[in-house]
Amino acid sequence: MSFSDLKLHPSLMSAIKELGFTKPTQIQSDAVPPGLEGRDLLACAATGSGKTAAFLLPILQRLLDKPRGKTRALIIAPTRELAAQILQDMQDLAVHTPVTGAAIFGGVGMGPQEHALRSGVDIIIATPGRLLDHLKSSYANFDALEVLVLDEADRMLDMGFLPDIRRLLRQLPTKRQTLFFSATMPPPIAQLTREMLKNPVTIALERQSRPATGITQALYPVSQELKSALLATLLERGDMKEALVFTRTKHRANRLAEFLAKRGLSADRIHGNRSQPQRTAALAAFKTGKLRVLVATDIAARGIDVEELGHVVNFDVPLVPADYIHRIGRTGRAEAVGDAFTFVSREEEGDITAIEKVLGKRLPRVTVPDFDYNARPEARLEIPLAERIAAIRAKKSEDRARGNAKGARGGGSGGAAAGGSRGGSAGGSRRGGGGGAGGRGGQGQGGRGRPGGR
Ligand code: AMP
Repeated sequence: MSFSDLKLHPSLMSAIKELGFTKPTQIQSDAVPPGLEGRDLLACAATGSGKTAAFLLPILQRLLDKPRGKTRALIIAPTRELAAQILQDMQDLAVHTPVTGAAIFGGVGMGPQEHALRSGVDIIIATPGRLLDHLKSSYANFDALEVLVLDEADRMLDMGFLPDIRRLLRQLPTKRQTLFFSATMPPPIAQLTREMLKNPVTIALERQSRPATGITQALYPVSQELKSALLATLLERGDMKEALVFTRTKHRANRLAEFLAKRGLSADRIHGNRSQPQRTAALAAFKTGKLRVLVATDIAARGIDVEELGHVVNFDVPLVPADYIHRIGRTGRAEAVGDAFTFVSREEEGDITAIEKVLGKRLPRVTVPDFDYNARPEARLEIPLAERIAAIRAKKSEDRARGNAKGARGGGSGGAAAGGSRGGSAGGSRRGGGGGAGGRGGQGQGGRGRPGGR
């Protein structure tokens, strides 16, 4: 199918051409025609499939000739980043039309958003929580709503937004077209589709949870402590020019970004503890190539769309296979080619097995030829709580022993030695010295409660 088969308005065709889209992606071929007919849609489409244009094009075509001044389309997205990205895509596609749009999400002032709602911009793109805040006031009026889109519905479920969605739905007109997008269809989402959709056209269910084509996936077995060094090595050797790197926790994201910066590799991070301006700045710097590495936690990374992103690195193996698919969907977008590297420690092998089961294939294991897999780690990203407590205890008992020794004129070396054998490793690694590798085995307890300290 070609774009001309979709019978889109010339102003939309011009924008599509300027964006460099030569032919519709599968989801666009499947979703645009019923969308244009005004049918409800239930589409299983992962990030990277071109789903955003698949729902934006029918909306734009529908609103083109309508009078302005009333909000006629509402798009609900789980995160600020995704909402901002959808607005950007909308503005790109609507550039030759009079259709207007605005994004509404938390972390920024309410004022401009209130103004957008009062002036009745054609399309509102919103995260659920902030939209509900506005709906407490009378200026937020969706009486003229014609189209509702729910994007990444399964992610809304993961983030606990379903009650908010139901609350929202109660405040919207029921006579409308609804376009429902979700990468996966867990039971609560299937139930929600039954509540929201009327005789929907169902699309691409069989392709659910498959990564976008063009992605080369590989696993890099490496100990937890050497993951940072391995990443730095791959960047330094030029195996990766730039990378979007996912970590399990905010803390690890911070420490990893610091580690890379110390090695002279430009890096920043985005996660839930960073303010919206910080996240936007980091993302912009990464997009323009000022940063080589953007470290992100899963939730913050939703909606990141970096054109021609070559590499995604799973610094930690995602716990849920669906997250793996989402993450690697950020590379190889719309049939481009990209790499997805996953660093796997021995403790994470079980999670990889689950992912391979979903993918239906075993992923290749790669060993980096001149990387020293036996090196002493320069720094650790996390000091397990048990070790931190042991270090504090050891320090206290050392101090006490020293005090006693003073009192007894140097007789207490036995006590200090006992403290030292336990505290030596913990104390030595407190600042990431790593001198006490041998002492780690008994007490290591990873952040995820995995057995074994390595
Ligand atoms: P999405 O899945 O909507 O997040 O889109 C993924 C990426 O594909 C975005 O960077 C879009 O700009 C791009 N894209 C969308 N449609 C097409 C198309 N027909 N041809 C090429 N790229 C596209």
